[in-house]
Amino acid sequence: MEAKKFGLNDIVEMKKQHPCGTNKWKIIRMGADVRIKCEGCQHSVMIPRREFEKKMKRVLISANEA
Ligand SMILES: [Zn+2]
Repeated sequence: MEAKKFGLNDIVEMKKQHPCGTNKWKIIRMGADVRIKCEGCQHSVMIPRREFEKKMKRVLISANEA
């Protein structure tokens, strides 16, 4: 399984979309927990980093490589 790379301000897709119908999340805080904000409704959630890595599907837009 390939390692997932992600960083602050990246736009990511999760395995499950948000109930609002959007599946684009921006990483707004990195640490032991990751805070992501839904780009559709601006709702934000805090997820333990390990869980985030499991639930994240892919990086759509990498802030560092833009
Ligand atoms: Zn949403």
